[in-house]
This record gives sequence, C-alpha cells and structure tokens, in this order.
Amino acid sequence: MLTISHVSKTYENQPLLTDVSLTVGAGETICLLGASGSGKSTLLRIIAGLEPPEAGRVLWDGADLAPIPPHVRDFGLVFQDYALFPHLTVFENVAFGLRMKSNTKTQKHKDMKQNKRLVSSSLGAFVVNPKLSERVAEVLELVNLTDFGNRRVTDLSGGEQQRVALARALAPHPRLLMFDEPLGALDRTLKEELLHELRAILHRTQIPAIYVTHDQEEAFAIADRILLLHEGIILREGTPADVWSDPQSAWAARFLGVGNVIEGKMNGDGRVETELGFLRPLCKHNHVVGERVALLLRQGRKGGRVARLKMSVEDVLFSREQFEVRLGGGIVIQMVRPPKVGSKILVTFRVECLGHA
Ligand code: ADP
Ligand code: MG
Repeated sequence: MLTISHVSKTYENQPLLTDVSLTVGAGETICLLGASGSGKSTLLRIIAGLEPPEAGRVLWDGADLAPIPPHVRDFGLVFQDYALFPHLTVFENVAFGLRMKSNTKTQKHKDMKQNKRLVSSSLGAFVVNPKLSERVAEVLELVNLTDFGNRRVTDLSGGEQQRVALARALAPHPRLLMFDEPLGALDRTLKEELLHELRAILHRTQIPAIYVTHDQEEAFAIADRILLLHEGIILREGTPADVWSDPQSAWAARFLGVGNVIEGKMNGDGRVETELGFLRPLCKHNHVVGERVALLLRQGRKGGRVARLKMSVEDVLFSREQFEVRLGGGIVIQMVRPPKVGSKILVTFRVECLGHA
C-alpha cells in the first residue's frame, strides 16, 4: 500500500505542496484533481522517485522508498504525450517495459546488451522469448489491441497510442499505476470511451492507481476516491458522491461545478443578505453577524432549507438532454422544458452554507 506522509515541496521559494498526506488502498483508484499548476505532476514525480520531497516521506507497506531508485519501484507511468518509441512497433514498445524490468532483476549484463539491440532494432530484428511475447499478447488483449503487435506506433490514432502506453505500463505487473492527464490530448467521445475501459481494466487487474487530472468530469468518471488539490493542500477528499453532495468550501463547489455559489453578509437573525434577497441557509458552523459567507444554491433539492425565488430568464442554451437556463444574478439551472427568455419563473433551491467567503 502506498502512503504519502507529510510531503512538502517549494518551487522558487513558493510553497507548491504543503504537508500532503494520502494513501492508496489495495485495488483502489484515487484521483488527484486540481487546477493546472497546482502541483499534481510534481507530486507524481515525487512518488515515482524522479524528484525528492523537501520534507515528508513516500512509503510502500510502511517502508521508506527514498533509497529505492525510480526504475526498481515497480510503478507504471502513463503520460498525456504517450512517450512511445516512434521507431518501434506496438509489440516492441510494450516489450520494452518488460525488458527494463528483467534487466533490473536478473542477468543484468546480458540483457543490457539485448536491450541495446532492442532499441536499435527496427521490425523483426529483435530476439523474442516466448514468455515475453505471451505477456505482450496478454496485455494487448487487455487494452483491446489484439493483432496490433506488428503495427508501427506512428500509424496509430491518439487513442490507440494511449492504449499502447497503457499496455506497456501494465506489462511488468506494476504494484501501482500512475496516470498524468492521460486523456488530455483526446477528443470528448474517445475520452469517455477510454475512461470506461480504463476503469474496467483497473478494477479487473486490481492494480492500485493514482489518476491525475484537472478535469472534474474525468475525475468523477474514474475515481473510487477524489482528492482535491488546491493551494498545495488536499482541500477535500472522499468518494465522488460524498464530495458532490458536500463540497465543504466555496472553491471546491465552484471548481466541481456543484450548483450555484453566491456570497452574502450574515445578518443577526440567521439570514444572509444576498443580491437575490435574504436567504436562510443551513450552516454547520456559527458565523458572526456581518461576516461574508458563501452559499450553495442547489436547484430543486428537497430537504434542508429551501428558498423559492422568482427569477428572470436571461438566456436559454441547449445542453444535451436538458436546457441550461441562465437567470438573473448569474444563476444557472437545468430545465427539461425551455422557458421563454425575458419571462419570470419560480425556482426552488436548497440553500447551504459553504462557510467564510
Ligand atoms: P500541475 O501538474 O498540477 O499542472 P506541476 O506540478 O506541473 O502542476 O507544477 C506546478 C508549478 O510548479 C508550475 O506552475 C511551475 O511553476 C512549478 N514548477 C515545479 N517544478 C518545476 C520545474 N522543475 N520547472 C519549472 N517549473 C516548475
Ligand atoms: Mg501536470
């Protein structure tokens, strides 16, 4: 089991990661979700051993990995840009990961020579051992690339290339897989398709995984558990359903796109003065009179504190199954039937308090 314990990192005297701790359980896929520049890739590099943390430790089953170099950590990595060898075939690219592993384990010197031959070889020129080709065939089947072995990677589509990168990472039976924005370069349909496949593969193989992305839809589609990285700390952590139902901060609610977040001033009677009028939210914490607080307005939610507001329709956009309706005050809701622009409609919101704004 991987444990990150109190890891910190600064970059040019600016704190990038501050006291970050997390674990990845057996067979679990966690998703590190954060804006671009929030330090996600840096954290992966630290876990991979490509960069040391300034403070804190990376542990596997309780043992500190600091003395273990990257190539013997048994971690697989998949990047956005695939990082395949363009001059090698699909088979050779996948086999490469296996060669690297056997090099570090046995017959170091002999295999080093073979490795050189592998890298310098083009089609067919390289020595194949039956166990290795069996494993390559196995992982190619796993990623739905059966019969692609002899193809050149440069002839493949982006989605196919990413499957090759995944097969290469899977081949040596890594004890952990790490994905750094692996679908960033693909279009939406392909992205969704690959996400579902990847989720199925991760669950079938039970390899624990860390998936890094800035895209909240991707995170919700892949993660068993989401960790929201913001300003160097894990701001919120939980299952996708938990995080969605209780984002716990204005930033998290906005970043995830949960409902509408507005700000207002706490009044003496428990109501909050906002540009939509006085609202009475459900608050977990006490707030002093006059304090600026953030409120989450969820449309049509039953239970809790409900507000019924008459609002003007400013714009209506078609959005998949529903219509996205833009109302006054920057509020956006979804409706099955589109209202008339310029009309007034009555909308029911559940009003929750997200704390200090
Ligand atoms: P993310 O993957 O979340 O986009 P990164 O981990 O790549 O974030 O980097 C976060 C920030 O740290 C970057 O915006 C960059 O300014 C800085 N940084 C960290 N390490 C380096 C480095 N080796 N070279 C340049 N910038 C770096
Ligand atoms: Mg990155």
